[in-house]
Amino acid sequence: MTDPPTHAFRTLSGMRDVLAPESARRRALVATFADVVQAAGYQEVVLPLVEDLGVFLRVGEATDVVTKEMYDFVDKDGTRIALRPEMTAGAVRAFVQHKPLVPWKVWYAGSNFRHERPQKGRYRSFDQVGVEVLGVDDADLDVEVIALGWRFYELLGLRQVRLLLNSLGEHSDRERYTDAVRSYLESRKAELSEKSQETLARNPLRVLDSKRPEDRGVVAEAPRVADHLSAEAAEHFERVLAGLDALGIPYVVEDRLVRGLDYYRRTTFEYVADALDAAQNAVGGGGRYDRLAEDLGGPPTDGIGFALGVDRILLACDAEGVFEGVAPGLAAFVVDLVGGHAARDITHELRTAGISADRRFGGGSMKSQMKAADRSGARFALLVGSDEEERDEVTVRDLRGGGDQRRVPRTELIDDLRTHL
Ligand code: AMP
Repeated sequence: MTDPPTHAFRTLSGMRDVLAPESARRRALVATFADVVQAAGYQEVVLPLVEDLGVFLRVGEATDVVTKEMYDFVDKDGTRIALRPEMTAGAVRAFVQHKPLVPWKVWYAGSNFRHERPQKGRYRSFDQVGVEVLGVDDADLDVEVIALGWRFYELLGLRQVRLLLNSLGEHSDRERYTDAVRSYLESRKAELSEKSQETLARNPLRVLDSKRPEDRGVVAEAPRVADHLSAEAAEHFERVLAGLDALGIPYVVEDRLVRGLDYYRRTTFEYVADALDAAQNAVGGGGRYDRLAEDLGGPPTDGIGFALGVDRILLACDAEGVFEGVAPGLAAFVVDLVGGHAARDITHELRTAGISADRRFGGGSMKSQMKAADRSGARFALLVGSDEEERDEVTVRDLRGGGDQRRVPRTELIDDLRTHL
């Protein structure tokens, strides 16, 4: 026997429980996302929460997400594995493994894990929804993908989301640009914050992301990626911008936008919620990538995708007062004053007929049962007292319509509810 605990357990730092009604709101958010992307031909892919550590190492050896924040450990059989910190790597691994027909257009929803310093809008376990498309090299696909994210925010009712956009060029452009940034930053290293000096050694482009005030001056004068684009990459980017203009989607070209992971090329973008504090206002981001399929053992394949942060989107909805709670949708609540069998049988009958129903266990007075009915948010209370039982009837009371009520024969109950719901 183990000793009883000396304290009640709590969630780990940076992890949260999501209780009702917030849980219903999350589910509705994911359903909205699924509607948007499925209507554009994307199909759901369900990926494992853990992968071989190598899957993630391939994609971001120079990033904090992979080097510092990953929940990695040795499995009981000695394999080095990790909880996923993001989903693109797993999706591409699945693409390489299953060799689906291209274009492979998929969407996903699920939890990711990063050992970050927890704060509002930054958690160690957080949810994302996202899409990936593999096998298409066409600027109009970039437009499609960006527009889907935009449409989703719009459907939630968010009005204060901005789209930031940049092109990192081809892989070789990016290399040349990285070299230019590295030598520039080296020349002004002494002026950088200590943190950025460390980042410079590992990943110079990430320094451009720094929001620290002491870095601002140096970053502002850094070389611009636009000056390092090949003609082909510049043309691709022009077509993306023209597409967004045609669709009426506003954007800001932000040439400091380099994004965290190593595999991005050409178009990169971020959605920012202005209703949130600047430190945690990125509600989603994505871009085009290449070499990822190859790095994971597959053929060279173009890819593009985005991941949107569910937790932060909900915070943005709170801040803008949109996409509020979802009312509990129960149709009926049985109030049984005859010993419980009516509640047992009627709830079962209704549920079988596809009508949602609940009841209170342990009986109780009419008053306490009616209170439970009100709390359940049900549309109708179905009352069964001795009089109703004798006549084989039910009293149907409308809980949202000022208490109107009617007597209905038991045999007609389901039809009656269907016509009134
Ligand atoms: P990333 O993969 O870092 O580009 O993240 C994509 C989106 O996921 C971000 O724009 C955030 O909305 C969200 N996100 C990333 N990390 C966290 C975190 N630790 N907590 C909550 N949301 C996060």
